[in-house]
Amino acid sequence: MIRCYIALGSNLGKPREQLLSALAALRSLADTTLVNCSRFYGSIAVGPGQQDNYVNAVAAIDTTLTAEQLLTALQSIESQHQRRRDVRWGPRTLDLDLLLYGESSINTDTLCVPHPRMHQRDFVLRPLADIAPVKLLQSEFGGINSATFKDTDDLWVLNDNDQSQSA
Ligand code: ADP
Ligand code: MG
Repeated sequence: MIRCYIALGSNLGKPREQLLSALAALRSLADTTLVNCSRFYGSIAVGPGQQDNYVNAVAAIDTTLTAEQLLTALQSIESQHQRRRDVRWGPRTLDLDLLLYGESSINTDTLCVPHPRMHQRDFVLRPLADIAPVKLLQSEFGGINSATFKDTDDLWVLNDNDQSQSA
């Protein structure tokens, strides 16, 4: 089994429901166990134009799928959630990015792992720090710690009963 981390993001439709439904899809993926999921976060969209706020989270899975098979599976879950690929970094019903596939480094036309932009994105790092082991956070990120993060105007923890994205 390979331990993998997947970033989930949505800012269209009902983002929280999209994430819950994506987690259910990950849970029922063949040859894969959903191990854990971070808290849900609200974040201000980074990207072109005026966009609604995001809901973000990171999930941990164990899988025997290859990285390419896993990417294909993630893309098919995105498609099941009416994901359209038009504007780069435009609004999306569901984005599933493979952050880490065990300790593998992968660089192909279709797949780069570790995900090349994850190290700069607090909306990835903060949920990752909720669930990743200290050892991994040290080796990959020089030791980030969820407790050292504070809510900001750009990124905040969503409470379970907080149905709005903007609270
Ligand atoms: P982004 O997530 O950067 O906003 P997309 O979700 O539209 O962009 O993905 C664009 C392409 O990125 C996908 O077709 C996929 O082949 C490629 N890709 C490369 N590395 C990864 C990765 N680690 N996780 C997900 N997609 C990846
Ligand atoms: Mg993506």
